[in-house]
Amino acid sequence: MLTSSRNIAILGATGSIGASALDVISRHPQRFHASALSAHRNVATLVELCIQHQPELAVIAEPALLDQLAHGLQTAGLKTHPAAGPAGLIEAASGTHCDTVLAAIVGAAGLPSTLAAAQAGKRLLLANKESAVMAGPLLHAALQAGGGKLLPIDSEHNALFQCLPTSRTRFDGPGVRRLLLTASGGPFRGRTREQLTNVTPEQACDHPIWSMGRKISVDSATLMNKGLEVIEAHVLFDAPVEAIDVVVHPQSLLHALVEYEDGAILAELGHPDMRTAIAYALAWPERVRSGVPFLDLAASGRLDFERPDRSTFRCLSLAYQALHAGGDTPAILNAANEIAVEAFLAKKLAFLSIPDLIESVLAALPPIAMSDLDTLVHRDLTARTTARGMLRRFCR
Ligand code: NAD
Ligand code: MG
Repeated sequence: MLTSSRNIAILGATGSIGASALDVISRHPQRFHASALSAHRNVATLVELCIQHQPELAVIAEPALLDQLAHGLQTAGLKTHPAAGPAGLIEAASGTHCDTVLAAIVGAAGLPSTLAAAQAGKRLLLANKESAVMAGPLLHAALQAGGGKLLPIDSEHNALFQCLPTSRTRFDGPGVRRLLLTASGGPFRGRTREQLTNVTPEQACDHPIWSMGRKISVDSATLMNKGLEVIEAHVLFDAPVEAIDVVVHPQSLLHALVEYEDGAILAELGHPDMRTAIAYALAWPERVRSGVPFLDLAASGRLDFERPDRSTFRCLSLAYQALHAGGDTPAILNAANEIAVEAFLAKKLAFLSIPDLIESVLAALPPIAMSDLDTLVHRDLTARTTARGMLRRFCR
């Protein structure tokens, strides 16, 4: 192990957030070391990253690929230990090789390792917003049991963390009135429902500002990403739903705002580049270079704001509804959304049918109280089966 001050497990190392994190880490070799890396199925890229970063552990989520990973690491002459499957991810999230875990797997697949990192008391850098959306109470319980700290990576929540009094993780600061999340509006901002009838996955993933994985790109296009982020803000900051609002800001230079009782608003500004949030969370409470260029405000020119179009982009309202419904409804919303996005990316479901499918699943599965992980996993599966069963009704 290097004599760096932080040893970091990067879960989802081959993704967009993973790449941004490895870029920041490689700028500070004395400070940060990637001690574990994980990928879903891409063995070649995982081995390549291991050659560059020399972690102690490499995990491939697909169990059948373990031999291939072991062979790749051996051929490259690396000492990195290979592991696979759910147990490998838990080991990466909770083993002694790391003190910090970047949870950057996409979707519900990231939940067990996120909870394991919290339970083990690691510094938890949370990009996997789906974990917070699905399992808020379980995440809080795991954090409390482990005694570690959660630092949000999602740019809006990272910005809120910076703008709340003395970087609190709770909505209990003196005089805090409202949390405002900014939304870029996605690639289809300003379009009517009619103009969205035949939009393709390629168009949905062609985000005007942020470069991200395909699932979150579709979520940005539907505004479900902002809906999930409203729930995430509720969970991470313990904020009442009425105190969380969304404003569209197409330039994405301003990532979130905290409004105070005296009329002041504090905001965080910067280029739309996830390396700022990642560097902040890695080095907190210090600040380090992230590789993000400094913002030239005069060159940026203007900052525009508008209200979200909730009747065209219905997913945002569905997320608020899920939060109001309580219990495990946010987890049902998340599962239905994952199936809907998958079907849209496979060109089986029209863009405008995404909220229709989610709404039908929510209607079919009224909330139940969230008791434990097993019940939650079972409900997540039920929601997925229900969504798949209903897909035919909405398919083109
Ligand atoms: P991505 O699709 O680029 O990468 C996802 C990573 O997860 C990859 O390393 C992939 O191998 C791994 N993965 C996928 N399915 C898996 C599975 N079933 N089991 C184990 N590993 C699996 O996604 P991303 O854009 O990097 O997003 C990652 C997470 O961060 C998401 O939850 C997203 O909402 C959140 N996030 C991303 C951004 C961004 O700018 N990309 C911003 C804020 C939050
Ligand atoms: Mg975000």
